[in-house]
Amino acid sequence: MTRKEDFDVVVIGGGPGGSATAGLLAQQGHKVLVLEKEKFPRYHIGESLITGSMPTIEALGLRDKLDRMGYVRKYGGTLLWGRNQGAWDFRFTEASEYEYTFQVRRADFDSVLLARARELGALVVEEASVQDVLFEGDRAVGVRYLRKSDAEPTTVNSKLVVDASGQQHLLARKLDLIEYHSDLRNLAVWAYFQGCNRYSGTRWGDTLTENRPNGWFWFIPLSDSTVSVGYVTPIEAFKASGKTLEELHASELAAADEITSLTAPATRVSGFRTIKDWSYTCKKFYGPGWALVGDAAAFIDPLLSTGVGLTLRGSLGLFETANLALHNPNEETALYERYERNYREFLNSLLEFVRFFYDRTKSKEDYFEAAQQSIDPKRLRPRKIDFARMLSGVSGMRDIFDGPLALRAFRDSDAPQTPDTLAG
Ligand SMILES: Cc1cc2nc3c(=O)[nH]c(=O)nc-3n(C[C@H](O)[C@H](O)[C@H](O)COP(=O)(O)OP(=O)(O)OC[C@H]3O[C@@H](n4cnc5c(N)ncnc54)[C@H](O)[C@@H]3O)c2cc1C
Repeated sequence: MTRKEDFDVVVIGGGPGGSATAGLLAQQGHKVLVLEKEKFPRYHIGESLITGSMPTIEALGLRDKLDRMGYVRKYGGTLLWGRNQGAWDFRFTEASEYEYTFQVRRADFDSVLLARARELGALVVEEASVQDVLFEGDRAVGVRYLRKSDAEPTTVNSKLVVDASGQQHLLARKLDLIEYHSDLRNLAVWAYFQGCNRYSGTRWGDTLTENRPNGWFWFIPLSDSTVSVGYVTPIEAFKASGKTLEELHASELAAADEITSLTAPATRVSGFRTIKDWSYTCKKFYGPGWALVGDAAAFIDPLLSTGVGLTLRGSLGLFETANLALHNPNEETALYERYERNYREFLNSLLEFVRFFYDRTKSKEDYFEAAQQSIDPKRLRPRKIDFARMLSGVSGMRDIFDGPLALRAFRDSDAPQTPDTLAG
């Protein structure tokens, strides 16, 4: 026996994409249901934020709360990358008004976002796994889900189904929408360490990204004591090594440069975790009655720590789109078409840049130049600032923010515009 319920919007998944979209829509008075298959808090990879996350965090009214939670503040990034000798860095403050963002334990961070969606009026049901999206003709009209505590599934009807199920990408699998980027098929292996050496000053909370001949390391300081140290390598390189992923992590760590010295006095305090990270973009981000956001729409390589930032920017765009479309159903197609176009353009510019960045034969000046060509072809800003804007995720996604929550931080005209003296 199935039950029936009705909502304006059903959101599949209570990660950052689902929580943010749901919370913002509920805040505008829409009747929203979030179905999350896990019980929060739950572990998740993706701990290093970029400042492109901050406008959505502010729109949700969470900025002060996150400040008070004592997360490590991340003011920028340090890189051992390309053919330059030694470490180099960028500061978020070069890119926008946001001086810092956070390094987060996702179990806590995602719980805060999901709780906020509840506070803003969304009905959130945990341990509720969506089994299928229901269609009438080509229009999505609801979902069927099963609660852990129930023997029978429940059916809900809604005007809009948002798939924010992350890399489960429920709807994209059903509709065969996933297109993998075959050059970005990696494996990641990571563990947590205590007692690491650390940078000082505003670099204390930096993510360090260090190049290796067949991969790269992340060093993400999560608290005063704990650092996540992860190694990412193409699947072929892993297979060719003849090692287990754990052995590969250990041997690459021993042979690295900066990360070896930072971790020299440290003790590993967790087991290893591993995940495949294959980049993909879906062929469509919307259709009648449905839309995708976050990893359910696309995943671009973790190299620049952009996942949550892209997801939260996408959520803001989807919120504005869905809010308008629910009030103006006749404009639905045009609104979602704009959402997809802008989101895709933003993702593509990052994808293109990541591909360029993976070429370690370049110098940092080449990376600055590539960032400028991508997001500032008229050369209105110094190249180094364009690079910082690219890595901060505060540039490149236009138009979406024309709605009521139009956010200054994303307007290119607001970026620092000083002579090109910093370039190179
Ligand atoms: C190796 C690696 C390193 C990364 N490092 C970073 C980083 O440093 N910084 C960063 O910003 N990003 C990073 N990311 C990316 C980041 O993890 C994701 O981009 C981000 O979590 C996407 O958020 P989301 O809300 O779209 O999906 P998720 O956070 O995955 O949330 C999806 C939610 O949907 C739920 N769900 C799934 N299926 C169902 C269902 N059928 N019914 C109900 N609920 C369901 C899941 O339980 C989950 O809670 C990394 C990714 C990888 C692979």
